[in-house]
Amino acid sequence: MKHPKQNGNKTKYIVVTGGVISGLGKGIVTASIGNLLKAHGFSATAIKIDPYLNFDAGTMRPTEHGEVFVTFDGGETDQDIGTYERFMDEKLSRTHNITTGQVFGSVIQRERNLEYAGKTVQVTPHIPDEIIRRIREIEQKTDADFILIEVGGVIGDYENVLFIEAVKQMYLKGDPMAFVHVVFLPVPNNLGEMKTKPAQHSIRALNELGIFPDFVIARSSQPIDDPRKEKLSVFSNIPVEATISAPDLETVYAEPLVFEQQGFSQKILNHFGLISRNMDYINSWREFVLSIKKASETKKIGIVGKYFDTGDFTLEDSYVSVIESVKHACWKHGIKPQIHWIDSKRFEKNSETLEELKELDGVIVPGGFGSSGVEGKIKAIQFCRENKIPFLGLCYGLQLAVVEYCRNVVGLKDAHTTEINPDTLFPVIDIMKEQKHNLETKNFGNTMRLGEYDAQLLPGSIVSSLYGKDVIKERHRHRYEVNPEYEKQIENAGLVFSGRNPQRRLVEFIELPGHPYFVATQAHPEFTSRPLRPHPLFNGFVAAMKQQKITLKTL
Ligand code: GLN
Repeated sequence: MKHPKQNGNKTKYIVVTGGVISGLGKGIVTASIGNLLKAHGFSATAIKIDPYLNFDAGTMRPTEHGEVFVTFDGGETDQDIGTYERFMDEKLSRTHNITTGQVFGSVIQRERNLEYAGKTVQVTPHIPDEIIRRIREIEQKTDADFILIEVGGVIGDYENVLFIEAVKQMYLKGDPMAFVHVVFLPVPNNLGEMKTKPAQHSIRALNELGIFPDFVIARSSQPIDDPRKEKLSVFSNIPVEATISAPDLETVYAEPLVFEQQGFSQKILNHFGLISRNMDYINSWREFVLSIKKASETKKIGIVGKYFDTGDFTLEDSYVSVIESVKHACWKHGIKPQIHWIDSKRFEKNSETLEELKELDGVIVPGGFGSSGVEGKIKAIQFCRENKIPFLGLCYGLQLAVVEYCRNVVGLKDAHTTEINPDTLFPVIDIMKEQKHNLETKNFGNTMRLGEYDAQLLPGSIVSSLYGKDVIKERHRHRYEVNPEYEKQIENAGLVFSGRNPQRRLVEFIELPGHPYFVATQAHPEFTSRPLRPHPLFNGFVAAMKQQKITLKTL
């Protein structure tokens, strides 16, 4: 046990709640606080609480809940976990995403196992007890100075009340804790003035649950001014200096710096009686944010995906890690990325539209499931291959690149993945044996090939040159694989399998020699790109867009 339990506990907690509206960017606020604590020399980790009944995000449509972020240990989690990883440069475990479904599931299971010894099992205290048990479990495993807890949903909803109750109990029992409440302050067009009333009501609703926030984050289109801080102070008992301004920003990565300018991290440290240890990290972060502002050369990147009928915001959320990875690599190269969403169904209807791809500097085919737009994606990949447009395939992107190559180069007409055509004559992408059983028994949740797996890279290949090493780890989330029965034929036709899983020999990377950049991976490298350390595969993609030749590391 690293820490004595409860009151003698030296782990400090910062609980972030939200009010007025959803979609305020509580995840960015939480991650920015974590970023700053690290900047001050403290270690920090974060927990996301999601008040829905799904066990995890894995069974939810990305248009419903955003991207499913995969942790190194195979958790299918909320996209905020990805935000924390990027801002805090941490690797979080699946246990860091707690849902109502998990909590109720455990309590009911325990009741069935007679673990409550005949007692009446009730919503309180047993549900908050289980929430606290899960938080404590993380506390035991980490040696972080701080644990940030973001409570999903909006204060005033029914669904997060039990989570609030749990953290309140921890606070009452003596856990060192700070409460940060993120509110929205509208500036109605007809008034042109920022209004604090909804925020006051939200703080009051939180007070009714027994929580008196130590800090209020004022999210708005513009910075909150002193008269409005005064208002919050008078009507909501929030000292003027405890209201922190969080206006809309050009880049979310500037949020830690905006907080720092207001001395927010120092105020948090004061709250816990701590003093800053160093500030090195924030200097590199400042340089990074500066590089975003400086990036001037524009490059057009096409992302061929689906979910197009749902609007731009949904698209951004569904592919958030891919977009962020593109940005990290572009900024490092002084490029301002311009993302173009490409609905592959257009190419199915009219092949001439493929010519539009020539306007782009590079094309990404990201992960996906199901048949929607698949033929169009295959056509787009063919077009990139034949017209030497830099191409990066991620997971489904690799599978469809193999299908395309088999159909158009190897000569296996109508080759396909069995995900789409189970009766194809040439099942070049096929389901893994153990996965077949999962599908037949409708065991869909958390049963894919998930989490981190090793890959052995081919010495002298593009990918090994980019990674700068030959054994790497990447995160996975899929059921289908390149079918080993076709590997020889495909290789003989020129496609290189440049990385394999050493234990099972599964194909993890492909690349095409002689093409400026035709690289795909069975994994999801987008989950491990960091602002200060862009991912090698995205770096290679951007370098190719800049027409830089990748120097191959020869043996
Ligand atoms: N649908 C494919 C599979 O299950 C690819 C999944 C993905 O792109 N994440 O194997």
